[in-house]
Amino acid sequence: MSIPFIDLKTQYRRVADEVQRGIQGVLESGAYINGPEVACLEERLAGYCGTRSAVGAASGTDALLMALMALGVGPGDAVFCPPFTFMATAEVVALLGATPVFVDIDPVTYNMDPAQLEKAARAVRKGESSLYPLPAGTGRLKGKAVIPVDLFGLLADYAGLLPVAAAHGMYVIEDAAQAFGATLEQSGVTRRAGSFGQIACTSFFPAKPLGCYGDGGMCFTDDPELLELLRSIRVHGQGRDKYENVRLGITGRLDTMQAAVLLAKFEIFADEVRLRQEVARRYAELLGPLPGLILPEVPDGQTSVFAQYSIQAESPAHRQALLERLAKASVPTSIYYPTPLHLQPAFAGLGYGPGSMPVSEAVAARIFSIPMHPYLTEQAQEQIARALAG
Ligand SMILES: *Cc1c(COP(=O)(O)O)cnc(C)c1O
Repeated sequence: MSIPFIDLKTQYRRVADEVQRGIQGVLESGAYINGPEVACLEERLAGYCGTRSAVGAASGTDALLMALMALGVGPGDAVFCPPFTFMATAEVVALLGATPVFVDIDPVTYNMDPAQLEKAARAVRKGESSLYPLPAGTGRLKGKAVIPVDLFGLLADYAGLLPVAAAHGMYVIEDAAQAFGATLEQSGVTRRAGSFGQIACTSFFPAKPLGCYGDGGMCFTDDPELLELLRSIRVHGQGRDKYENVRLGITGRLDTMQAAVLLAKFEIFADEVRLRQEVARRYAELLGPLPGLILPEVPDGQTSVFAQYSIQAESPAHRQALLERLAKASVPTSIYYPTPLHLQPAFAGLGYGPGSMPVSEAVAARIFSIPMHPYLTEQAQEQIARALAG
């Protein structure tokens, strides 16, 4: 029996009727662009995250781009990002002519380390790359914003990061592309992914915890001015009417059909988040006793949605041996992310080199991900554990 890495087919069988009804409704209504399903989804998901409003976007990447545009990020601005993330996080910064400044991660949570952010922000403020590795040849930069990423479904350390950002007068944009549904208990209140920073962004790429059947994303904000800006930027900087353009924007809309798919899938989302916790608990039981594996850790008071179940091996060679064993047992695996962004050819111009971000580099050389989805059976997990045990 082959095990899927992410089982979207089983999920589809569960929601097929509702999804088909939703798509049929859009087809018959003719409201293919900005149909009522989009506003309905925005309202429902904002309610779930606990923000005042949400703005659908064509992808998670466009959501991040729109957020940076709304905050006026541009040339001369430093935007602090972790290097251990998907390309889009830093790509949108560079697309706007601003400069990504990488901040190394915490070795346990894999998320941006607040102490490193403080050092990096101070280095930018003083223009001193002896204080922290900075991009080369940019001239003086202004620390403008921070994009913490909630990697693998676990919230970044906002209690640590938000005060640092505030002390340096910087905006925070939460990249919640992998963490929709993740929670944090804070003085008796449940905070959700999508509610941190001035704007939070998520993705509905099919493999994300809440995925559609194509590309999609969303911005969340409490700020009515940012809401208006995001709505305008989404349609070419639209002003009072369709043919007034008051700023530059993009074609950043979420498809009505994808909104209909998401409305159907959102009905079972809370249950899927619960199932993900069960699968993760079983992995912890099965894999905990195996020597040399560092399993994901969820800090007290938090829940992860485990967009990935990522394990660290003892060394690159140990990882290679484990991946080969899993392949032999027909268990699919993946490496997120083999090359941190500061070492990607696309960012070579920033002048970082090996050794600039030691934690990210060490983790990238040892991490790998095994199948994770709400419908993973106990039997499949036992098969995976046997393969890992060798
Ligand atoms: C997937 C992802 C994005 C981009 O989302 P798309 O919908 O694929 O454009 C951005 N940031 C992170 C961390 C992601 O995992």
